[in-house]
Amino acid sequence: MDLIAGVLAGETRAVARAISLIEDREPEAEALIDALYPHTGRALVLGVTGSPGSGKSSLVDRLIERERRAGRTAAVVAVDPSSPFTGGAILGDRLRMQSHAADPGVFIRSMASRGSLGGVAAATADAVKVLDAAGYPTIFLETIGVGQTEIKVVELSDIVLLVLMPGAGDEIQALKAGVMEIGDIFVINKRDLGGADKLREEVEYVLSFKNPQGDGPANPIVMASALRDEGIEELASAAADYRARLAENGGLVHRRRLRTERELEGALTRRLHELLDVHLDFSRQIHGWVDRLLRKSARPYALIDEQIRNFLKEARP
Ligand code: GDP
Repeated sequence: MDLIAGVLAGETRAVARAISLIEDREPEAEALIDALYPHTGRALVLGVTGSPGSGKSSLVDRLIERERRAGRTAAVVAVDPSSPFTGGAILGDRLRMQSHAADPGVFIRSMASRGSLGGVAAATADAVKVLDAAGYPTIFLETIGVGQTEIKVVELSDIVLLVLMPGAGDEIQALKAGVMEIGDIFVINKRDLGGADKLREEVEYVLSFKNPQGDGPANPIVMASALRDEGIEELASAAADYRARLAENGGLVHRRRLRTERELEGALTRRLHELLDVHLDFSRQIHGWVDRLLRKSARPYALIDEQIRNFLKEARP
């Protein structure tokens, strides 16, 4: 069976191979995505973010258990943009969500950053398309921590769960404003430990300042304990309700539109950059241009115009 048919049939090995092609930026990956594209748009993409150790993997594990009990398959993409060279993602594959490792109905994949930060988000977006076309009804997009790139990654989701835990000091204050903004559902995990109620009050307080013009409905706060398997039903139904309300008010379509726009812009920009390199030998030439500028034998915008003219002449098919 060829790769496209394999992915569409939901074959695990085809899916894994397709994602590897994407990660390695193999030329055939783009044609593959184009072929799969008409079959995408069905999955619910649930972003799961929060500080390391807050219990994201444990919660995803429990949510997957619930999906499996209902006879549904699920996929997880764990993104670790902070560890390009440490092999963190590979380690992550081994350590995280071990309870589902042997279940063919659960697909788990880690992605580490290779190259640019924008590149991870783009590769993750394409990996999500593969999983969507393969028919996984729910795709969990889990980040290891919370930072700028993680925000870019969870922006690929329909709904974002922000996981917090009590006893982590001033956890809320430690989070950057953008992270609070991006959360749809606030999960206070480890409620079995002390301080969960206090954290809830803090979250409520911070949410009272949140921009009311966002496209989302009011942000639910769910108290859970992944360890004790508590609050998981509440979390799942909060996500289902949120999704329904988002679909009703047009928010889901709006988010997917924004996402498509960002992806397109990113891919086009990367492609143009590659073309610049091919036709102008940009990476090598730039040193000479800088020399000319520093010697004042060229002026910046005139130089740019000159190069653009060269590029357009060169690049014309
Ligand atoms: P992640 O880094 O956010 O994915 O967090 P993990 O899911 O790996 O959990 C970090 C640690 O917290 C692990 O030792 C878990 O067993 C533990 N943990 C997760 N959920 C709970 C919980 O609800 N209560 C308690 N007490 N510990 C938990």
